[in-house]
Amino acid sequence: MKALSIEKENTICLKHMPEPEPAPDELLIKVAACGFCGSDIHFFRGGHVQKYPIIPGHEFSGIVEKTGSAVVNFQAGDRVAADPNIFCENCDACKSNHQIHCKNLSVLGSLRDGAFAEYVTVPERCAFHIGGLDFIQASMAEPLGCVINSHNKYEIPTGASVFVMGAGTIGLMQMMLSKKRGAAKVIMTDIKDKQLAKAKDLGADVVIKSDEHIFDALKKIAPEGFDIVIDATGVPECVEMGIKLVKYAGKMIIFGACPAGSSVTIDPFDIYFRDIQIIGSYALEKTLGQAVAMLKSGAIDLRPLIGRVVNIDEAAAVFHDFAEGKTSNKLIVSFFD
Ligand SMILES: [Zn+2]
Ligand SMILES: [Zn+2]
Repeated sequence: MKALSIEKENTICLKHMPEPEPAPDELLIKVAACGFCGSDIHFFRGGHVQKYPIIPGHEFSGIVEKTGSAVVNFQAGDRVAADPNIFCENCDACKSNHQIHCKNLSVLGSLRDGAFAEYVTVPERCAFHIGGLDFIQASMAEPLGCVINSHNKYEIPTGASVFVMGAGTIGLMQMMLSKKRGAAKVIMTDIKDKQLAKAKDLGADVVIKSDEHIFDALKKIAPEGFDIVIDATGVPECVEMGIKLVKYAGKMIIFGACPAGSSVTIDPFDIYFRDIQIIGSYALEKTLGQAVAMLKSGAIDLRPLIGRVVNIDEAAAVFHDFAEGKTSNKLIVSFFD
């Protein structure tokens, strides 16, 4: 099979490799679509990868090709998406329903081979039927599942104001879901005009270009601050500003991945006196099914977030453009023409 392979730090290429064999509890999936994610760049640069070479790719959909002997709920021909996080369900974290902190966690595309390949294996317990949902949107169920996981951690009061920092794919998903959940007004900022125009098209109420006057501009719009502030940038300076813009009794959601070891200055008196909650949210945890349900019913339509669709032969070259920030919106490898 053809597969994209990270051979070592900063080296990615297309290879021919043997097809994997499913274990008794696993499905062999013929991959239909797999999306590029910022964390793939991180793995390419050498972070969080335990073995080289590794096939990246954790946002995918496909068709079951073959089932292991112990599989009960799937058969060849089923259309599926899958959670790339494989939990042991037996450690302390799993037993207390905090599976993403599983002590024996294995993750497709970083700790075991992922889905930028014609075939991938995954345990049955990670897979979900997608019915007639198109494969490209189904491949985006994983990032949507991450966004839903963060939303499961807090209420959005009906009529609330929500401020989303960053109008990339994730920021736009955050905006769409906030609106679904009853926000009256969503304000978005970004450094790119193109992304702000897209945000406006997709329903953001107010968009503002992020520059040196951004804090004053936001203060003017909301002198008391916003009920909910969501960081979808992973930029520490944005997080620091965001906390100052949370309204009394409001919430700051740290969703973007800031560099490990970075720091921000907060005024603990301010957090205390204004009753502010700071909520972190990492990856997805049993929320891929919720994402598939939202996409299947059309409650959320992610098609406008699709940037470019390429084939596996082009993937390595396009990955370099992606890693250098030259692409916008979701970049997806489609295996079916
Ligand atoms: Zn991802
Ligand atoms: Zn576990």
